Amino acid sequence: MIDAMAKDPGRAAAHGPAAEAQDPDPVAEAWDALVATARRTVADGLVVGTSGNVSVRVGDLVLVTPSGVPYTRLTGDDVVAVDLQGRRVRGSLPPTSELPMHLAVYRSTAAGAVVHTHAVHATAVSTLVDELPPVHYMAAELGGPVRVAPYALYGTRELADHMLEALTDRSACLLRNHGTVAHGATLDQAYDRTAQLEWMCRVWLTASSHPTRTPSLLTSADLAEASRKLRTYGPRP
Ligand SMILES: [Zn+2]
Repeated sequence: MIDAMAKDPGRAAAHGPAAEAQDPDPVAEAWDALVATARRTVADGLVVGTSGNVSVRVGDLVLVTPSGVPYTRLTGDDVVAVDLQGRRVRGSLPPTSELPMHLAVYRSTAAGAVVHTHAVHATAVSTLVDELPPVHYMAAELGGPVRVAPYALYGTRELADHMLEALTDRSACLLRNHGTVAHGATLDQAYDRTAQLEWMCRVWLTASSHPTRTPSLLTSADLAEASRKLRTYGPRP
């Protein structure tokens, strides 16, 4: 099959019963990518232990990290899949306790992946302001100034509701005294937005810790201009 695909790259995108019989299992592939992303959040310092969670949508299924299992121990046999109502349709491990937040994003947006962390600078900022002050144009990549959702107990529908409101026209938000949520078309995009958000929070905390100076901020016109350019050319260093 590998030889056939190598000779005819278009074959990989073919459809129909014969093609499906030979194509890789999309759930298994998505699970491997999810586990890799979850491990990356730990390796990059965005998550300590299992204090975050990652999900990815495959058709009408949502694959999600299980509750309380270190990501290094997850294997291909540990797939946890639920439907959009949260009913488990695959696997035996319990889904993350933050499942209501993940499902709320998928029910309300076209997101393909969601990353939730307790990243240190973002969580610190969530205790200080109602909105991350726009210190950098990459806020435009997240849809504008990042809001802080009011506090509610983890794992509750109330927290999911607060998060959804804070995500209006945004691809990321902070959760007060809790952490971050970011979504994207892909796992990589949701991860990158999480990392950008944590970085911007660090920039703001660093600048605002100066004893006598206060950080300059971008205007909404600055952000709109950056947004237009990002849409046209993509992110620039
Ligand atoms: Zn959490």
